[in-house]
Amino acid sequence: MDKQLNNYYKQMHISYEILEFCNKIEEGLKERFEEIDRVAEYNQLKVLRAMQERKVSEAHFSATTGYGYNDLGRDTLEEVYAATFNTEDALVRPQICSGTHALNIALAGNLRPGDELLSPVGKPYDTLEEVIGIRESKGSLAEYGVTYAQVDLLEDGSFDYEGIKKAINSRTKLITIQRSKGYATRPTLSVEQIGELISFVKEIKPDVICMVDNCYGEFVDIIEPSDVGADMIVGSLIKNPGGGLASTGGYIAGTRECIENAAVRLTSPGLGKEVGPSLGINGQLYQGFFLAPQVVAGALKGAIYAANIYEKLGFHVHPSGSAKRHDIIQAVTLGDKEKVVAFCQGIQKAAPVDSYVTPEPYPMPGYHSDVIMAAGAFIQGSSIELSADAPIEPPYSVYFQGGLTWYHAKYGILMSLQELYNRGLVEIL
Ligand SMILES: *Cc1c(COP(=O)(O)O)cnc(C)c1O
Repeated sequence: MDKQLNNYYKQMHISYEILEFCNKIEEGLKERFEEIDRVAEYNQLKVLRAMQERKVSEAHFSATTGYGYNDLGRDTLEEVYAATFNTEDALVRPQICSGTHALNIALAGNLRPGDELLSPVGKPYDTLEEVIGIRESKGSLAEYGVTYAQVDLLEDGSFDYEGIKKAINSRTKLITIQRSKGYATRPTLSVEQIGELISFVKEIKPDVICMVDNCYGEFVDIIEPSDVGADMIVGSLIKNPGGGLASTGGYIAGTRECIENAAVRLTSPGLGKEVGPSLGINGQLYQGFFLAPQVVAGALKGAIYAANIYEKLGFHVHPSGSAKRHDIIQAVTLGDKEKVVAFCQGIQKAAPVDSYVTPEPYPMPGYHSDVIMAAGAFIQGSSIELSADAPIEPPYSVYFQGGLTWYHAKYGILMSLQELYNRGLVEIL
């Protein structure tokens, strides 16, 4: 079998040197992969149980149009999300078109003029700067009289409890905690850490709403931030919880009141969750959620595999090859433009869609340097599918994530290294 497999890899342009080097590394990851499989197994049971207990049936997959009144499939899917994430309610809609949109609804729906929003974990994800008004923007929370305060993490990545205590005041209404590092260099927070932070904040101010930006974190652990006191968790369906099948959408899961506030902001006061046609995509949202634990496991294995390979070759990787994982993003610092381009072109060559396309760095709005993006995805912008991007600037780090199957993630990483190797940019030891 090994011989046949190696032979096939060869036909798929992976050379013997690369394969041998990477196979040895994979061999050493067996135990970690088994642990990931156990987490997926647990989460699979969680989702399965939620679906069984709500008697999900074929009738839930049919479409509604127009207002979407009495969309049984939509309402039940929201119950399935709420049960899986251990919350009172959830809003799961194709009308939420991205993670940023979901976060905007959660924030704008639950904050009122005069309130203050606090981030106790440093600067939030790029797109939230305009939602909040950190960068001036039309329709931002700042324009509606919501102020913003921020407490950075300490040098070692831990919470600045003293600073947070000082920052909480009579106007502090909501705190936003970003679980994943996103594309920053700080560490990703574990669910336990988030729980500790929420307890600390609630001790000072019990009625403060604790929201967690859960993007890229779903199903990485057997508990979610909503299991440790978060009033709302928020994410995108073209990341982890859509399982690669959701063609669009976002979710918010949380307390009944928080969800109602978000719903009236998404649709309209007086309408809330009652309207919103599912337009025939309920089936993929259910099936994607059902597959998500397994898909996340594959993406996690890919991230760990890549970290270990590139670490062994002497590159700085974040998180490190041996670090415990709390999200699916992997950063590799390659050190120069040629390597970054080769890496991304290798990922692209390995894609099921658009594999013949060669990505090149180009200027992008919102970035001060050129950016290269590799994505050969079934769904536009889906980052649970194998994808990589990098700004062309020091330290020349590439961020990559996803992989609908572990085998594809593996092939993508092999191909990235093969490209570096073919161009004489790395030496295989
Ligand atoms: C992806 C992401 C978002 C939202 O991004 P969208 O592209 O709007 O879906 C927000 N926060 C974090 C940490 C993310 O990774």
